[in-house]
Amino acid sequence: MIIGVPKETYPGERRVALVPAVLPTLTKAGFEVHIQSGAGIDAGYLDVLYAEKGGKIVADRAAIFAAADIVAQVLCYGPNDVNGQLDVPLYRQNQILVGFLRPFGSLEVLQQIAQAGVTSFSVELMPRTTRAQSMDALSSMATVAGYKAVLVTADIHPRIFPMLTTAAGTVTPARAFVIGCGVAGLQAIATARRLGAVVSAYDLRPAAKEQVQSLGGRFVELPIEAKDAQDARGYATAQDEDFYRRQRELLGKVVQESDVVIATAVIPGKKAPILVTEDMVKGMAPGSVVLDLAAERGGNCDITEAGKTVVKHGVTIIGPINLASTVPYHASMMYARNITAFLTHLIKEQKLNLNLADEIVRETLLTSGGEIAQARVREFLKLPALTKQAG
Ligand code: NAD
Repeated sequence: MIIGVPKETYPGERRVALVPAVLPTLTKAGFEVHIQSGAGIDAGYLDVLYAEKGGKIVADRAAIFAAADIVAQVLCYGPNDVNGQLDVPLYRQNQILVGFLRPFGSLEVLQQIAQAGVTSFSVELMPRTTRAQSMDALSSMATVAGYKAVLVTADIHPRIFPMLTTAAGTVTPARAFVIGCGVAGLQAIATARRLGAVVSAYDLRPAAKEQVQSLGGRFVELPIEAKDAQDARGYATAQDEDFYRRQRELLGKVVQESDVVIATAVIPGKKAPILVTEDMVKGMAPGSVVLDLAAERGGNCDITEAGKTVVKHGVTIIGPINLASTVPYHASMMYARNITAFLTHLIKEQKLNLNLADEIVRETLLTSGGEIAQARVREFLKLPALTKQAG
């Protein structure tokens, strides 16, 4: 089977779906890998490195799609809402497509993908289980984003992060506050600690407390309890507006005492809750920085503008989108390992094994046989349940 890797086309995207280091594993499993010329260059992987590992370099994008049994991308049509549509005419019936597909996005886009006849797998839908851990691209990208978020704030903030005792006196450490302690938040805590900041963190899931403490952070406990804070998959559950209002009241003091706030609080398939208000920002010291990793999902701060940096009341509010793409070498390496683990799980002896009894296959299968196949996505999009599972 041929795996085709086209160059990413989302503006500014620097990642690539496969890196040369995973090619030997894929070749050993019987795959042939075709790479569009220049696909890895922005991440630091030259054509020659792929060729050395047995990859075939193909100049023409259309030829990649024409030859591939499997197309591996980072941002497929869906999250690539700028140029992704141009790939749809290149899709072939029953071709396998793997990548970020924004399953809880636009019905119209998902229908276009389904009707093109591709069997698509959305990495966002990978179960958060021990078995699927090596295939969990969401966690890989969140790790990179959480790390980079801290570096961005450190770069912009007028203070030094660590405590320094110098001949010119003592510098006190910066105070960082992380809201939402999932994968990105925990990596932000670890990174801010490594830079010497004093770190506090909060999550509505009580299970996060121990994780924060094990990283050397102080867990902020609020005298409110979320109802069923966590669902069976480990995700936070949406709370009512009353709860969020109480949260904002109680978080205000901690936010205002912080030099840096990194907000990562999101709920799958929902708009992110507003937890940092303009009033709180007004109360922060001049020069403070808020980095809103939830920007793409509506933002945790009500001043955030997705994709922009705004300065208001002397505070810089950053709403990055696609932060993982700014560390493309390692983001691509981790993504490539996830995709390789997934493909070698999915395809045995050169045959797609669409075994819907396997949770990994069932959960990630987004479109199949011309239909949107994933049950939760159909429910989210208010489509009737499929009587017979496609495939
Ligand atoms: P996420 O990106 O969905 O959310 C980020 C964080 O925001 C979460 O910790 C969530 O609890 C928090 N949050 C949401 N609303 C909030 C609010 N109002 N106030 C404060 N915090 C709020 O999270 P994620 O990184 O995808 O992780 C989700 C869960 O999955 C976690 O429990 C994580 O430990 C678990 N996980 C498990 C595995 C595995 O077992 N293989 C892998 C990755 C993640």
